[in-house]
Amino acid sequence: MNDLTIGNPDYTFLIAGPCAIESTEQLELILNSSHPPKIVRGGIFKMRTNKNSFQGLNEKGIDIIQELKRRHDFHFVTEVSDPRQIEKVSSITSMFQVGARSMYNYELLKELELHKKPVILKRAFSATIDEWLGAAEYLKGLGDQNIILCERGIRSFDHKLRNMLDLGSVIYLKKNAPYPVIVDPSHAMGNSQYVIQASLAAIAAGADGLIVEVHPNPEMAMSDGQQSLSLPLYSELVEKCSKLSLVLNKKLQV
Ligand code: PEP
Ligand code: MN
Repeated sequence: MNDLTIGNPDYTFLIAGPCAIESTEQLELILNSSHPPKIVRGGIFKMRTNKNSFQGLNEKGIDIIQELKRRHDFHFVTEVSDPRQIEKVSSITSMFQVGARSMYNYELLKELELHKKPVILKRAFSATIDEWLGAAEYLKGLGDQNIILCERGIRSFDHKLRNMLDLGSVIYLKKNAPYPVIVDPSHAMGNSQYVIQASLAAIAAGADGLIVEVHPNPEMAMSDGQQSLSLPLYSELVEKCSKLSLVLNKKLQV
């Protein structure tokens, strides 16, 4: 992880990839695109609200990443929701993701603290900032720079958008907490047409990075296609975030 810039105030870092790993081809198209992500995200054990929705490729997804890592140079991050999944994916992951549904799973957090890899801790749907920071305490042994808080939109009274992107929390945390803070504009907005603007707003608010869903063929995605950026939109995102980062005296780490 030494080549990564997480928490380095001179950089904005980008994590990008599909909601769920679906196939080798899907990842190849992203890794061979004009802006191949250095940190790739992708669900292997998916936590779906509906039990009948695609649950992820599980072991087959691990094989796909293992095989791709022989040919491409990238870091990989995936969600774990059960301590038993940690060992299974640890050979392919540079960091772990704790999803919104698991932020309160303190036993999972305690187990992750033992694994010494950075953890992206997503905010639960209705968690207060104090509850979120309380969950981060369970990871304290990792060191502050390895606890990455991720604002991914919270529940509000309004249902026009998937969630409400709470950029106030980013501004607050950057002033009052020691951790890197990133934003997931995909789950916050729920629709790819709003993701670029939400990303720019997040960087302007002081976010250290973004985690964005990208799919080579969003209409065919097995999960979260509506909010996934196509590759041309992802290029546009990279170019715009890069320009904005420069204005803020930062460099974009793609
Ligand atoms: C995801 O990143 O695909 C995901 C399920 O996110 P969240 O936990 O924020 O809903
Ligand atoms: Mn998703």
